[in-house]
Amino acid sequence: MAGETKTTAPAPPAKPSSTSTVAPPKAVLEITSPGVPNADKMSRGAPVRVNDDHDNGKFWPANPPAPHRELEPIFDFEHLEDTPNEDDLLEIKLDVKPAGQKGNVTLNVQSQDAADSIRLWPKKTKGKATDVITLTGNPPQTQFAANTLPKSIFVEGLKPGQVLFEVNFPGASVDRLKINVVKLRVQQTGRQKIIYLASEEVFFRVLGAGRNEVVGYTFEWDLDGDGRFEITSPMPGKDPNVVTTKYGGSPQLPPNAANTRKVFDVAVRLNGNFILHATDGLFTGGGAAGIRVALDSHQGTALPADNTAGLHTVPEFRWSDTFPIKFDSSSAPGFAQFKGADRILFDRAVTGDAAQTVFLGTGKRQAFGVAVGPRIFTSGQVREDLIATVNHEIKHLQQYVAVRDNTPAGNIWKLLDDHFSGANGYKPFREVEGHFSELLDTRVSWIHHTLEGQNEIKSFVDEWNKCLTILPSLPVPVKVEARKFLQDIYRKIPFFEMKRSQYTDAIRAPE
Ligand SMILES: [Zn+2]
Repeated sequence: MAGETKTTAPAPPAKPSSTSTVAPPKAVLEITSPGVPNADKMSRGAPVRVNDDHDNGKFWPANPPAPHRELEPIFDFEHLEDTPNEDDLLEIKLDVKPAGQKGNVTLNVQSQDAADSIRLWPKKTKGKATDVITLTGNPPQTQFAANTLPKSIFVEGLKPGQVLFEVNFPGASVDRLKINVVKLRVQQTGRQKIIYLASEEVFFRVLGAGRNEVVGYTFEWDLDGDGRFEITSPMPGKDPNVVTTKYGGSPQLPPNAANTRKVFDVAVRLNGNFILHATDGLFTGGGAAGIRVALDSHQGTALPADNTAGLHTVPEFRWSDTFPIKFDSSSAPGFAQFKGADRILFDRAVTGDAAQTVFLGTGKRQAFGVAVGPRIFTSGQVREDLIATVNHEIKHLQQYVAVRDNTPAGNIWKLLDDHFSGANGYKPFREVEGHFSELLDTRVSWIHHTLEGQNEIKSFVDEWNKCLTILPSLPVPVKVEARKFLQDIYRKIPFFEMKRSQYTDAIRAPE
């Protein structure tokens, strides 16, 4: 508005009986958050979640600044650009009445837990670094011209803790609003996990709900994702913001194969209206949200007979002389049994592993077939485990065939085999691809039901880390291709948390 208007405040309506010396009305100053009743704004305070990286979706491009690596996710609080999907900033409103007054309203930010718990934005989709509302002084503060109010600003929660906003304006009473930056943390055996085990207790805590984590909030919990908040009172001996459960016995689950891996949309409701979801279980590119649990339920489909004829009844094993291994005319003595449909065999002599790839020679990598041992049949596993295990071995057959035929020319397996002059030096590269295929197979449990509970995600991570150790020692061009191979797997990892260092079994991208 241009400044033609001379009056600074509207005069109160004249009453016939009023005297001629009416004082201007006292300014009334307000800081509020929509949806937070005035009675609650200091007693409990307005909750805002720690800004969740899942609505960011940005990854470091090539040559990122140290210590970041190409393809790794960019934390939301590091990402200073418009984020159109942002849905977790808290709106707060500043107002001074009557409107149009001269002077400045001062907003102080007093943080009880950490000075960097929040960041303030002029709009709810964040923006560039220069858009951040700068706070200076002690306590940190900023000012707004009173005649620009009412105004909304948006609070980004950076880490759990309590923050007190205070507004001042000459001639008006101070007003205050308390903010609790909260986060639902899920742990098992003291760690955040990508996949939780049904056999062990899972521990949930709302962080940042204030001093002593309480501040008068009520906490209601939905641990099985059915939309009902079944737990409404504190557990005996625990803080009100903490619950624990085991997914092995309760909630009860219908007995079907899909239950071998499951995602529970865990949520906690604060004060009857603010809902925090566990975000650990979001899959890259969408999918179910919640925590992933490997159900120790031994569910699945019955195994075929433990003999070669039994294996040949499984339609998922599509064996021929062109797939998956191609006909090898130079069949060596002792391997003649591996041909045609018989390229998959039951072999009671295979005792170390569940199944083995049968190949011969160095440099040439003659590939014959897969021998399945008795272990799958004697350890309580199911048909889904068998299929995932054989598919893992098929990956190895294809790797050997790629060496044998050099097709496509200059492929990663041929380069690695030539460099190491044999199969042993690059075994982690072969295994990382094998275990990854099992991790991606949604029909099989994340944990094979062997006696020791073979953990596929752990097997994958162990081999991945060995690959990262080998990678720097490789000469160009092997190194270039090996890095591309690992980057391709890294891109396909379906679990966002697997790329976050605070989780057990997280991995880093190749340097
Ligand atoms: Zn393997």
